[in-house]
Amino acid sequence: MSEYIPPIEDMNFIITQVFKGQGLGDLDEDMIVAILEEAGKVASGLLAPINKTGDEQGSQWMDGEVKTAAGFKEAYKEYCAGGWNSVPFKEEYGGQNLPWSMAFPIQEMWQAANMSFGLCPLLNQGAAETILAHGSTAQKEEYLPNMVSGLWTGTMNLTESQAGSDLGEIKTKAVKQDDGTYLITGQKIFITFGEHDMSENIIHLVLARTQDAPAGSKGISLFIVPKFIEGKKRNDLICVSLEHKMGIHASPTCTMSFGDNGGATGYLVGEENLGLKYMFTMMNNARLSVGLQGVAIADRALQQSVSYARDRIQGSDITTGQKIEIINHADVQRMINTMQSLVMAGRTLAYEAALYLDQGKSDYVDLLTPIVKSWCTDMAQEVTSTAIQVHGGMGLLRKQGWRNMHAMHVSFRFTKAQMASKPLILLSAKP
Ligand SMILES: Cc1cc2nc3c(=O)[nH]c(=O)nc-3n(C[C@H](O)[C@H](O)[C@H](O)COP(=O)(O)OP(=O)(O)OC[C@H]3O[C@@H](n4cnc5c(N)ncnc54)[C@H](O)[C@@H]3O)c2cc1C
Repeated sequence: MSEYIPPIEDMNFIITQVFKGQGLGDLDEDMIVAILEEAGKVASGLLAPINKTGDEQGSQWMDGEVKTAAGFKEAYKEYCAGGWNSVPFKEEYGGQNLPWSMAFPIQEMWQAANMSFGLCPLLNQGAAETILAHGSTAQKEEYLPNMVSGLWTGTMNLTESQAGSDLGEIKTKAVKQDDGTYLITGQKIFITFGEHDMSENIIHLVLARTQDAPAGSKGISLFIVPKFIEGKKRNDLICVSLEHKMGIHASPTCTMSFGDNGGATGYLVGEENLGLKYMFTMMNNARLSVGLQGVAIADRALQQSVSYARDRIQGSDITTGQKIEIINHADVQRMINTMQSLVMAGRTLAYEAALYLDQGKSDYVDLLTPIVKSWCTDMAQEVTSTAIQVHGGMGLLRKQGWRNMHAMHVSFRFTKAQMASKPLILLSAKP
């Protein structure tokens, strides 16, 4: 049985009832539900089953190459073949041209089913959006079709050991060549899917400093630095190690070295010294997606808590004296209701940002972007912490807790009929 149950009913409720289908063009409710259900099958049937094994195994580094966890390569191929990588992109580059209002719930499912896997398309989406917004016509034609189909994936190379939040400290160098290209040298850390075996090419978007550039953030330029130039010739860049993180082990977080043998070939995006401005397209895209990850992980914790609370028998009914499942205790109901309310609030907030993207209301998007990122991820901390409380001691055990609970998973979505028959159990987050 699947461990992840796509929350189609709740997603559809927000899209069609709260936002009244705004921003969705010709899509009617039947089509919306059909698309969400198909995505849900991929999330629960293809990605969720390799989440736990992927986390246990992790991505493996060897001599500059990164082997992803068992099943990831095959799942990515199937995911791309189904057209799921191209959902929000423009038709002229092979995209499906679906609105962000659809792309967000779909992306939420990838993140909830398997966040390690979902990070690859997340970064690629941001990179493709950045090339679309700031690249030349030739760059768009060269890179976007393959990044949209998923044959190639994109990355974001900002961080260096001395330049985290403070990107003005970036030291990676870019030296202009007579043919107009640049030679890139330097080291980047924490690069998500900087190296892996799921795609034929990796298109790195790299922040670097040209010669004589002004100090600080005003002297940073943006470069396209492909792993294979024109899809064939190996560029001078390599993954020198992977970070050993506390979670999402299947997502390779890479230290990337550029130019160990003279310099990696890079292609300037837009104008020199405007790189940070361009990169904000990518960072904002990533910030909204990270907020969505908060919603996804919180929903997964909610699902597991409800499942566990319905199975775990502890304590008695105060009137009959009969032993009961813990979901019948008022305080457990309080925790689950709180979690459900928070998840729905976060989901609605994130989808509202998607709606404004579709409507071109950039001021609202700018306002909501940091709120979606910070509130939804903070909310996920609270919900996942409460989820551990629902599990009691089992919440602290890796093996006996989460694993057994998954195996006993039962359908849990709260339909109105269920709520009517068990009035004590749940108050819907829906108005
Ligand atoms: C799993 C993972 C994946 C990542 N993927 C990528 C990627 O694909 N590409 C990439 O380029 N980077 C990536 N990063 C790096 C990430 O962008 C940085 O971690 C982030 O920018 C913060 O930098 P830092 O870790 O150096 O923290 P620091 O900048 O050292 O910050 C430490 C603390 O100080 C606070 N702080 C710093 N400056 C200020 C200030 N001026 N005012 C108030 N508080 C401040 C911060 O909020 C934080 O709490 C990834 C990181 C992780 C963990």
